[in-house]
Amino acid sequence: MSKRSKPDNPEIVNSESDKREPVTPGVLSGVLPGALYIVATPIGNLSDISDRARSTLAAVDLIAAEDTRHSAKLLHHFSIETPIISLHDFNEAERSRMLISKLSGGESIALISDAGTPLISDPGYLLVKQARHAGVTIVPIPGPCAAMTALSAAGLATDRFVFEGFPPSKSGARLTSFRKLCTETRTIIFYESSHRILPSLTDMLAIFGDREAVIAREMTKRFETIRSDSLSGLIQRIKQDEKQKLGEFVVILAGADLKMLETIESKRAEHLLHKFLVEISPGLSLSQAVALVVELTNMKKNQVYDMALKIHKANRPGDK
Ligand code: SAM
Repeated sequence: MSKRSKPDNPEIVNSESDKREPVTPGVLSGVLPGALYIVATPIGNLSDISDRARSTLAAVDLIAAEDTRHSAKLLHHFSIETPIISLHDFNEAERSRMLISKLSGGESIALISDAGTPLISDPGYLLVKQARHAGVTIVPIPGPCAAMTALSAAGLATDRFVFEGFPPSKSGARLTSFRKLCTETRTIIFYESSHRILPSLTDMLAIFGDREAVIAREMTKRFETIRSDSLSGLIQRIKQDEKQKLGEFVVILAGADLKMLETIESKRAEHLLHKFLVEISPGLSLSQAVALVVELTNMKKNQVYDMALKIHKANRPGDK
């Protein structure tokens, strides 16, 4: 049965909040029996743990952790004596079944990962998905996440962004995955490890060109370094100073320039029209060629039609 913690949770209220029914009952009043808590922990600096994370970890019946030895150190630091059980990629299916059965029996469980927010490039997705299907109450306890921490300090567009996690480890697969992102106009966030940071940046330069990027290294720790530059500048810096290769990294890449993409697409449409109307099939009607090019590109029909007319006029036999 749950070790209940005292209700000690200040809430930011607005004038409407006390009139509404709570969506997750008891979310502000200690741990609930049978609830699964998804608890974010520090990404380096232990002072970044929240009061709520600490009191939840101390109050639940069981903590599921990625690496029990690693998490034992964190819990020891905060004098938390809750029992720990492992949940990692290799045993998640079997462990999830077992944990859901404990939750159904009324035990409260917290999920943590080695650092940051569970499920973000970390185990837990299967457990949360199955727990939700089983009708378990799931309570997130927000806190550090390397991707959001880096983005908040990067100085790149934050209105729209995509999180790509770790790029593939092999260069061939990595280049293919980068190619698929070439026309992505939103800011792109990657995680990267010490031994792959240089090959990964080099592949980015080959595919994305010399775009603006930010490397956030060892955030919240002693050697925190957040650097913004072109991709080639960042690569040069790491090559000059081997120490810059050490630690954990978030790489944030500026999205593709929309105007540049439109110019490239317009050139592609023109090239295709020329092929259809002049080189390959002079018998193809203007409207057939336009319809094909509209289907093959992201161009609007009226733009393609204007282009087709110009090509058609310029290549009429009598006009040459
Ligand atoms: N769940 C974590 C989170 O919320 O950010 C991420 C876990 S993932 C297995 C670990 C990766 O996150 C590292 O390889 C690195 O790319 C990034 N990361 C974690 N801590 C970091 C830090 N202090 N500074 C920079 N990157 C970090």
